[in-house]
Amino acid sequence: MDVKKNGDVSFWYADIGGVPGYRPPLQDDMLADVCIVGAGYTGLWTAYYLKQAAPHLNIVIVEKEFAGFGASGRNGGWLSGGFSWSREKYEKATSRAGVIAMQAAMTGTVNEVISVAETEGIDADIRRTDELLVATNEAQEQRAKAMYADARSWELTDDRVGYIDAAETRRRIAVHNVRGAFIIKKVARVQPAKLVQGLAKAVERLGVPIYEQTTVLSIEKGKVVTNRGVVRAEKIVRATEGFTAGIAGHERLWLALNSAIVVTEPLSDKLWSEIGWDGYEVLGDAAHTYCYAQRTREGRIAMGGRGVPYRFGSKTDVRGVTQQATIDKLHKILTTLCRRPMGSGSTMRGVERWACRATGARRWALTSRPE
Ligand SMILES: Cc1cc2nc3c(=O)[nH]c(=O)nc-3n(C[C@H](O)[C@H](O)[C@H](O)COP(=O)(O)OP(=O)(O)OC[C@H]3O[C@@H](n4cnc5c(N)ncnc54)[C@H](O)[C@@H]3O)c2cc1C
Repeated sequence: MDVKKNGDVSFWYADIGGVPGYRPPLQDDMLADVCIVGAGYTGLWTAYYLKQAAPHLNIVIVEKEFAGFGASGRNGGWLSGGFSWSREKYEKATSRAGVIAMQAAMTGTVNEVISVAETEGIDADIRRTDELLVATNEAQEQRAKAMYADARSWELTDDRVGYIDAAETRRRIAVHNVRGAFIIKKVARVQPAKLVQGLAKAVERLGVPIYEQTTVLSIEKGKVVTNRGVVRAEKIVRATEGFTAGIAGHERLWLALNSAIVVTEPLSDKLWSEIGWDGYEVLGDAAHTYCYAQRTREGRIAMGGRGVPYRFGSKTDVRGVTQQATIDKLHKILTTLCRRPMGSGSTMRGVERWACRATGARRWALTSRPE
């Protein structure tokens, strides 16, 4: 598979030899206790824990394409357990104690995912590291410092968060014009397609079938109607995230937002010695239209961000093909952040690739920032 191709779902599949073959589709109408729609992280983790908690339940998963086709097999590979929205907004709906408890539970997901991967023998290039949100101008510096202060005010200790100055940031990663960084500790980098593929196999081993190439057309009370047959189930879990608008009657529930990633060729040792990044930190910036990046197992930089954020009518991409304008924009961010000293002779050759979606419920204000 051509790792430079724009499309074919995502680079992460090219990295493991291509997209997987399909599991068999649903053959006929059937009865189940629980029917899960969508085999991404949400559907698969739900099946994983539910089947262990209640082994007697007959749980089935129906999936339009293949397990891991969506954002779960295409994302930036930040396993951060971060709290992405305003804690104050959540507090209004619950309580300060509730928000702090949720924050702790989310932090705990990092160890939980790593522990399941170990137990289930999932090799997902997992590497424990820190998250750096770098500031490259004054506004970003103030924002990054404010993020740190805000995190501390919500009882995150220096065990989990910190602020490092320009010299310390540069010691880790030679980001051009860097002024400092907000740091979140005890996160991890993963290869997302490897993680979701391994998780799907673990779910199958527990006795939960995944029917692929089975498109859900509508969801009614106690009934999931697919193009292959009807699943009657008392409980139905819709786990379709950015694709939800494609299901009849759900068109206006979620706002499908696009995010895209570009990947460099493996960088030379010389270039890595200039850049540093020996700690494999997951790297973002404190800009409003932020970016996120990781150093991959084989020494590439994968960097994503918002390109063209919304396609009219919540339309989705075709198997990960992204617009040239998005590729150009991300390439510019990448080469600006990792600009090499004049005359170093090192170039960063890049990059193509892929889009997919994240979503926000239409009723929410999307003020997303990691922690
Ligand atoms: C580019 C990008 C980068 C990201 N980076 C990160 C990151 O670094 N860290 C992080 O924590 N999060 C990240 N996210 C967010 C994260 O990847 C997603 O929130 C998460 O993967 C969503 O999982 P899901 O199972 O809910 O949805 P998905 O993975 O999208 O799964 C939904 C599944 O439903 C299936 N489906 C859709 N319609 C139907 C239908 N009609 N019938 C049957 N099946 C259907 C799809 O084929 C798909 O397999 C990123 C997202 C994007 C888009």
